[in-house]
Amino acid sequence: MAGIFIFSEDSALAKQLLTPALELKASLAQPITAITLSESDAEELAKLGADKVVVLTGGTWAEGFAEAIYSQISKAEGSILLVGGTLRGKHVAAYVAAKLNAGMTTDAKALKIANGKLLATRVLYAGLAVCEEEVALPAVATIRARTFLAPAPAPAAGVVETQSAEADSRITISEVIPTGDKGVDITAATKLVAVGRGFRRKEDLKLAEDLAGVLKAELACTRGIAEDEHWLPIERYIGISGQTVKPELYVAAGLSGQVQHMVGCRESKVIVAINTDERAPIFEAADYGIVGDMYEVLPLLTAALRK
Ligand SMILES: Cc1cc2nc3c(=O)[nH]c(=O)nc-3n(C[C@H](O)[C@H](O)[C@H](O)COP(=O)(O)OP(=O)(O)OC[C@H]3O[C@@H](n4cnc5c(N)ncnc54)[C@H](O)[C@@H]3O)c2cc1C
Repeated sequence: MAGIFIFSEDSALAKQLLTPALELKASLAQPITAITLSESDAEELAKLGADKVVVLTGGTWAEGFAEAIYSQISKAEGSILLVGGTLRGKHVAAYVAAKLNAGMTTDAKALKIANGKLLATRVLYAGLAVCEEEVALPAVATIRARTFLAPAPAPAAGVVETQSAEADSRITISEVIPTGDKGVDITAATKLVAVGRGFRRKEDLKLAEDLAGVLKAELACTRGIAEDEHWLPIERYIGISGQTVKPELYVAAGLSGQVQHMVGCRESKVIVAINTDERAPIFEAADYGIVGDMYEVLPLLTAALRK
């Protein structure tokens, strides 16, 4: 078996995958092949340590690309595939693992080789426990965005090749409907103002928007605000079933801080919480806590910051 492979359709995440790939390369002494759908990403991946970059052209989501990725790995008898843990990435990872008859671990936080197997550290029970999973090679692992930083440029750039992926004849794309609010990637935001069910009406979110405006922050929310109330798009909710973020500043207004939410934001650098209930779990994670009614506190904060 030879070869460590990485794949993500997300440019930033693809670069981040190179960091654990380079660590695994140091143990396995196997080359890294980065598979990408983007020609513009290819050069950069080659500069950041991929020995080879394969640009897939054509193909269809997700089976078409997954089949092409599987064929690359099986030809090379690759030992490890690291996939960016997006919705599409997880689909691809599961498909390739099944075809390779390989074990798979998801949302790995750290990876190393131990006793000739892939040892993955991952978080369980919405962040309440950490476990280690040992997967025999060949192995597939998914990694969420921002788990690793992208590596520094390598001394020598790898080679770039283009390969065409077969379109899957069973799939026809009849219409592409934008999900709305695209273009805002809250995982890339350095400041977030997150809102929860403490807001009584959709119009009241204006208080959080005003604060976000002066902070130059993006708006985020809990699942209930996005999925039940539909006050904000689902791309903006944080948590175990939503986005994972690591901003410099996370202002949590009127949200309780249940573990399913906190697992997505606990690694924020500074957490500021505003809540009327001094026993709300958010205060356990907060660096600064304001026990008070956000309907009063938010306008005061916004006005003070405006000055
Ligand atoms: C399997 C599963 C997966 C889940 N995944 C997610 C997920 O990914 N993301 C997620 O967010 N949730 C998720 N949840 C839901 C999660 O358990 C919580 O129910 C949810 O996060 C709570 O949302 P909230 O904080 O908006 O509401 P609440 O828990 O109702 O909290 C509202 C808070 O607002 C405070 N408040 C009320 N009025 C004011 C005021 N005027 N000023 C200040 N504070 C005020 C209250 O004291 C309270 O603490 C999941 C649940 C399950 C079972």
